[in-house]
Amino acid sequence: MTLALRKLPVTPLRQNCTIFSNEAGHAFIIDPGGESDRIFQEVAHLHVEAILLTHGHLDHAGGARPLRDLLKTSQGKAVPILGPTREDAFLLQSIEKQAAAFGLSGMTHVEPDRYLSDGDTLHLLGHDIEVAHVPGHTPGHVVFIDRLDKRAIVGDTLFRGTVGRTDFAYGNMEQLLSHIEQKLFCLPDETIVLSGHGLPTVIGVERLTNPAFQGKRSA
Ligand SMILES: [Zn+2]
Repeated sequence: MTLALRKLPVTPLRQNCTIFSNEAGHAFIIDPGGESDRIFQEVAHLHVEAILLTHGHLDHAGGARPLRDLLKTSQGKAVPILGPTREDAFLLQSIEKQAAAFGLSGMTHVEPDRYLSDGDTLHLLGHDIEVAHVPGHTPGHVVFIDRLDKRAIVGDTLFRGTVGRTDFAYGNMEQLLSHIEQKLFCLPDETIVLSGHGLPTVIGVERLTNPAFQGKRSA
């Protein structure tokens, strides 16, 4: 059964928080970067099973802890926060500092219930959600792949016509490009790519036309 998908741009950085749900009213949420009250309203009629994080940047993870607290009160049971990998712990711990650098507030640091690893599979709403480690934008960045629905939720790794920033002290463009090629470009052409900002795209189009890989290909 295809999961319903609702995209909710949050924070002034317009980060795509995504809510997946099934017909039985169960859901999981990827990258609740902020505006936890608004996300909570959106899922009020659903039973949320997990909160997934692609990486430790403020606009992806800054609302996870307040959202977990709201859900715990409404659902009567803790909702686990899963991901990214442990390499992003330093970012998750410094979200207030990251937010201050953008002049933003209302985002909080978070300790996930479980760090993920490359090759993990999460079983959510009857779907196998595969975890792939795609570092370079941040060291612990993961992407989530749902082969049944042919979707990849890629955070800030791959975008329509471009790739994620790597101009951080911990960024690495070579690593980002090689991991996108290894972990994402091997997916079927028609796989929908849901990025952390902007519009979706598909794997086949990015593999053939994404300018970040053009020089590499002809070299
Ligand atoms: Zn980011």
